Amino acid sequence: MDSKKTDIKSFEYEELVAFLKEMGQPAFRGKQVFSWLHEKCVDSFDQMTNLSKALREELKETCDLRPLKKREVLTSEIDGTKKYLFELCDGFLIESVMMPYKHGNSVCVSSQVGCNMGCSFCASTINGCERNLTASEILGQVYEIQKDIGERVSNIVIMGMGEPMINYDNVVRFVRIISDENALHISQRNITISTCGIIPAIISMSDERLKVTLALSLHAPNDEIRKKIMPVAKKYKIADVLSACDLYFEKTGRRVTFEYCLIDHVNDKPEHARELAQLLKGRNAHVNLIPVNPTPENNYGAAKEKDIETFQNILETAGITTTRRREMGRDISGACGQLVRRKL
Ligand code: SAH
Repeated sequence: MDSKKTDIKSFEYEELVAFLKEMGQPAFRGKQVFSWLHEKCVDSFDQMTNLSKALREELKETCDLRPLKKREVLTSEIDGTKKYLFELCDGFLIESVMMPYKHGNSVCVSSQVGCNMGCSFCASTINGCERNLTASEILGQVYEIQKDIGERVSNIVIMGMGEPMINYDNVVRFVRIISDENALHISQRNITISTCGIIPAIISMSDERLKVTLALSLHAPNDEIRKKIMPVAKKYKIADVLSACDLYFEKTGRRVTFEYCLIDHVNDKPEHARELAQLLKGRNAHVNLIPVNPTPENNYGAAKEKDIETFQNILETAGITTTRRREMGRDISGACGQLVRRKL
């Protein structure tokens, strides 16, 4: 990656118009280039055929498109899920997943190279975090996948490698660009940002005037258990994280989803379900239950079917809506960070 060159694909619409204006171009040129970059998703300036040759050359010299190299694609024989391994310009590897649902194609994107959060069940965090992704690199994952499958992507979850709230500015930029009416125009309501619960970032996010869904990786009914599996819990208490989520709901009107990864004998017993129900009582909450995906590095077992059912029943009886995350792509290292891990 040539860092001296401008990362033109990370500009929001108005910024791109201003950038081209500086180069002496009229405002409509900004619209044209934005459309090439984010609607037609081209890989080179040469494809921007309605620009003069001189302008294309100038853009080539000063700007960078930060292309992603598709290194590997695995397709699940069970459910059609596709897992992608991409190489960034500086050689780092990231992964993304495409899940074909009846309601449309959903893409799970990474927000960082690795992760620093240290959750004990997660494979993405084992080697720490190398760097944040630029907005253009997060966008590139969606664009490459859309080209690969030849179909529209309608849903995005920011649940791949990394903690999106640590890469806050680039993630917000990504959301604004991908939902722009001059770009892919993916509805913000169809975008979910998943976080382990960085309180100041959740508070800032509630003021961004975005309509995205916030998902909190809760994974425990109390601080004691949470601290054992998520180091971030040592910094932020559950009560305070939930207050930040309440604020997000008040300001955006978007119901927060609570992710709860069920680990055998750690957090999956009836008493944990009752404690969780108590914790979430009175909130417009939705709990997404996920049997933990065992990885070679953690010694966790997925919760047993019977325990999951009991857990879910206790929550439902307490008036809390739940879903069970469908486990997609089990046969292709579906869980967070597992594919990159295998490569390393
Ligand atoms: N850092 C963010 C987003 C990335 S992780 C977050 O913490 O939310 C996306 C989701 O996958 C999180 O809910 C995370 O806890 C979960 N996850 C990670 N490893 C997993 C595993 N082995 N099994 C099941 N879920 C896992």
